[in-house]
Amino acid sequence: MARIYESRKRILVTGGAGFLGSHLIDRLLGQGHEVLCVDNLFTGTKRNIEHLHSHPRFEFMRHDVTFPLFVEVDEIYNLACPASPIHYQHDPVQTTKTSVHGAINMLGLAKRLRCRILQASTSEVYGDPSVHPQTEEYWGNVNPIGVRSCYDEGKRCAETLFFDYHRQHRLEIKVARIFNTYGPRMHLADGRVVSNFVVQALRGQSLTIYGDGSQTRSFCYVDDLVDGLIKLMESPSEVTGPINLGNPDEFTMRQLAESVLKLTGSKSEMQLQPLPPDDPRQRQPDITKARQLLAWQPATKLTDGLQPTVAYFRSLLGLSAST
Ligand code: NAD
Ligand code: UDP
Ligand code: UDP
Repeated sequence: MARIYESRKRILVTGGAGFLGSHLIDRLLGQGHEVLCVDNLFTGTKRNIEHLHSHPRFEFMRHDVTFPLFVEVDEIYNLACPASPIHYQHDPVQTTKTSVHGAINMLGLAKRLRCRILQASTSEVYGDPSVHPQTEEYWGNVNPIGVRSCYDEGKRCAETLFFDYHRQHRLEIKVARIFNTYGPRMHLADGRVVSNFVVQALRGQSLTIYGDGSQTRSFCYVDDLVDGLIKLMESPSEVTGPINLGNPDEFTMRQLAESVLKLTGSKSEMQLQPLPPDDPRQRQPDITKARQLLAWQPATKLTDGLQPTVAYFRSLLGLSAST
């Protein structure tokens, strides 16, 4: 008991009411820590954290990270930022502010507290990559003025800020480049491909394949990703990243649609729709660094991770298991 108390930390998770943040918080609370969740509920929902309402070590604060934040914590996970293209393109100026001003404020907070801070960066820093699979050394192929730029360039600038605070102020930083992650608590209507296909299949609607469906993504199950984030945070101080976290198993969108149809038993058809601008053609993480430095690799195959995801959306839509 005393040991748990000694190792208990007070941890700030920004974006904690979102998909990834809420799973991370569950895990941190399970490890015996105290968690302060800061979120403006732009894309996150109270439903994701309602099971923690009366948890004695959990606290929620509604706050926008583009404004300064004065709290006392031992560690910071900075996840606040809309992640789906529909959401981050809804108010692109606010998206850039969230990444850039949000990073400055959270780095300022970490600097005052002299605490570790982890940034949820993204595979989007590689843009539409011409190097495949993507290693951390690749500088990317990013359009600075397109519709995805508010997210991509915002996240790239946040990485710059993290490394400048590290060099200039000796701050302990951890930068994770997260590749497409899926699982329960994804937003029903956020337009990301896994939630779209599962919901469409369960509702008997056509699966919307953008372009010809030959573009690829590599999908990581949320539990694996959370493992990786915590391992990175707990790694020795010289491990700053950037470090790729994702599942290297790569699929075309057509293959994903087929897996979803098979798992749900749905008779839905596939419907081709125009490819959104600047949609990356291919994406697959090289996770050699994560394997070597964190002894981390994903354990969940796509079909195994899709099962609890389908079950989640079934229940959210009020459908029975046999539907
Ligand atoms: P999400 O949209 O479910 O969660 C983001 C959370 O941040 C939401 O709860 C939202 O309300 C909150 N938020 C947004 N702007 C805010 C602001 N200004 N102040 C405070 N809170 C704010 O998305 P997610 O999939 O959970 O992504 C979490 C983080 O991981 C994001 O930073 C995202 O860029 C990164 N990421 C996710 C993926 C993925 O596949 N899920 C891939 C790469 C990177
Ligand atoms: N900041 C914050 N919480 C803190 C300390 C700082 O939100 O506990 C914000 C502060 O408002 C500032 C930003 O973080 O805008 C960057 O802080 P830093 O000390 O690096 O820069 P400075 O205040 O010198 O501009
Ligand atoms: N996509 C699709 N149908 C959908 C939603 C997305 O074919 O209903 C495609 C999209 O064009 C992209 C891939 O799936 O090529 C992944 O899209 P998502 O928005 O999930 O993530 P990101 O593009 O940010 O990797």
